Amino acid sequence: MFKFLRDVKRKRLAAKPFPRAWEPHVKEHLGRWFSKLDSEAQERVRMHLKVFVWEKYFIGAAGLDVTDEMRVVIAGQAARLSYNLGLDAYDRLTEVIIYPSDYKHPGKPHTVVFGEAHFWGTMVLSWNAVKRGLCSPYDGRDTTLHEFAHVLDVADGVFDGTPRLHKPAHYRRWSRVFSYHYEQLLKDPENGIVREYGAQNAAEFFAVLTEVFFEQPGRLKKEAPQLFGEMERFFQGQRKSSR
Ligand SMILES: [Zn+2]
Repeated sequence: MFKFLRDVKRKRLAAKPFPRAWEPHVKEHLGRWFSKLDSEAQERVRMHLKVFVWEKYFIGAAGLDVTDEMRVVIAGQAARLSYNLGLDAYDRLTEVIIYPSDYKHPGKPHTVVFGEAHFWGTMVLSWNAVKRGLCSPYDGRDTTLHEFAHVLDVADGVFDGTPRLHKPAHYRRWSRVFSYHYEQLLKDPENGIVREYGAQNAAEFFAVLTEVFFEQPGRLKKEAPQLFGEMERFFQGQRKSSR
């Protein structure tokens, strides 16, 4: 869609009130982190959440009927990552396909999939995996956050573990700090700051690191303060300067 038309439409959506019927879903499923934010941040989460729900297509797979609860919970986890970024953070994403539970790809009967994010704008999630992530909020693992981190990563056109940073001047330190920690993980994947899966490539490293940043920030800050600092600057950097 042309950027101009999208912006006009988005402005209209942003002006619509947050549906009251969604509040119980926010409270029940997202309350653990949402309730810790100040009221101004909560408003921004609501803004990102509602625009996400109204802009993206949610499609049920394997007979699943998509409910408002699913839309609100998934969009809420997306908003958790994006509320300090612009509303355009997920512009590359057009649809979210939801399976009732973990699924398999044709021809790969032994590989169970929890979720995936594709370059062409589709994300696939298992509703079970989404709920599992929310039930264990401090274990450093969350499929939904992981997949949305991939979408933020690819916002600049490439899956390379570096999302669109706020300023050109930020890339140098980001790349130095990330390269260092990624190499450390390659040397000793079982005792890294993130789980071994992150050693596959830089994109997976950023995605699993995002899970840790949101679920175990204290540990990350203590064990890898520079890495924590880069993540904080990205995810919270625009807190005051823009909406
Ligand atoms: Zn991944």
